[in-house]
Amino acid sequence: MKINITGLDKWKKYEHQSYIKTVALKLEEVTESLKWQKEIEEARYSQNNGHDGKSILKMILSGADDMAKNPDGDIDLDCYEFHQLSNTVAYTYLGDYRTFLNTYFLNIRMKSGVRGEAQLSNTIMHELMHRAFRFTHSQPYNQTVPYKIGSITEKHYYERFRAALAIRIGA
Ligand SMILES: [Zn+2]
Repeated sequence: MKINITGLDKWKKYEHQSYIKTVALKLEEVTESLKWQKEIEEARYSQNNGHDGKSILKMILSGADDMAKNPDGDIDLDCYEFHQLSNTVAYTYLGDYRTFLNTYFLNIRMKSGVRGEAQLSNTIMHELMHRAFRFTHSQPYNQTVPYKIGSITEKHYYERFRAALAIRIGA
């Protein structure tokens, strides 16, 4: 899955821009792994609007995530910044195709190594499920599509790149 990022040129800080680009590139690699695809496909989801894992995976990989639902093969991440000392990590407006990311959390994640990057990959996938495919969540959260896709992605991202880091340190 390719991720096409827009909106970053309006961000104030270069380090935020490059952090998001780096994580998005590594996230592409995660979503291209058969391990990740298999888990997305086999998971069970609540509030799934009639879609099973197989159908959800197909939606993601087709790239039909823009307003026109054009399966162009890439995911469009049109992202904007806001800064707020709150527990809102990110948000998406209904009917709007932009993703707003809280730089308060980005700053924390940037100091948290692979764990922080993996958390951002979770956020990107979570918001994608709201923005592109209109999946929602009410309690209990963790079986819903945005939470489940996000947490599977975070786990795979962490496992994949933590290992790479360990090899580099050991060499
Ligand atoms: Zn949400």
